[in-house]
Amino acid sequence: MKQTFAVIGLGRFGLSVCQSLVAAGQEVLAIDNNEELITSYKDLVTQAVIADAQDEDAMRELDLGSFNHVVIALGQNIQASVLSTLIAKELGVKHIIAKAETTMHGKALQKIGADQIVFPERDMGKRVARRLLSHNILNYLELSDTYTLAEIRVENGKLSGKTLDDLNFRKQFGLTLVAIRRGKDVQVSPPATAVIEKGDTLSVIGETMDVEHLDSELS
Ligand code: ADP
Repeated sequence: MKQTFAVIGLGRFGLSVCQSLVAAGQEVLAIDNNEELITSYKDLVTQAVIADAQDEDAMRELDLGSFNHVVIALGQNIQASVLSTLIAKELGVKHIIAKAETTMHGKALQKIGADQIVFPERDMGKRVARRLLSHNILNYLELSDTYTLAEIRVENGKLSGKTLDDLNFRKQFGLTLVAIRRGKDVQVSPPATAVIEKGDTLSVIGETMDVEHLDSELS
């Protein structure tokens, strides 16, 4: 069944969410109280509506409660963000993702019932710093506060020529190896007989701490 998305607030963050969803072929309702913005982006999204996110009747009229995912992207206007999250919750939205500017703002959104809070600047800052500090992590995605999916390059020969079985990979590193990339070849879900070589890129999933440990082992 097709998922439905509503994005409230067409600032930099909300707009970027809309663009990515549309690029992925999804249907998106965009809401903003700024007429100019709605006029500019009405052709980008499936439906663009000028409305005040703090107006419960207006949100009910748009049938906000029927959307699978609602993204509240009203960072700077904290009052609107809090009220809009509350309204989305009351209207029965199952999955609310809200953008927060500060820790307290995030806490308030969580208390009201937002399912996921994002701190775009903070998250991106963390990501950039991690990349700078890590030797071999090419890319990573934080799945939660604890779990990470990462691509790590094998820079040394410590694991070279050994199979996953020899290494007892999962036990030794506490990580699941999702794929091994060697040049243009990608071996997804590698079997226990798969061999790791220097220069390979490993896609692993597991606790962030364990990912960092493997990164330092491979440096
Ligand atoms: P960013 O930091 O991602 O650029 P902003 O907080 O600057 O985000 O932008 C938020 C957007 O939300 C703006 O386009 C603004 O017009 C819109 N907005 C602010 N308050 C409301 C409201 N009460 N109802 C609907 N849209 C709003």
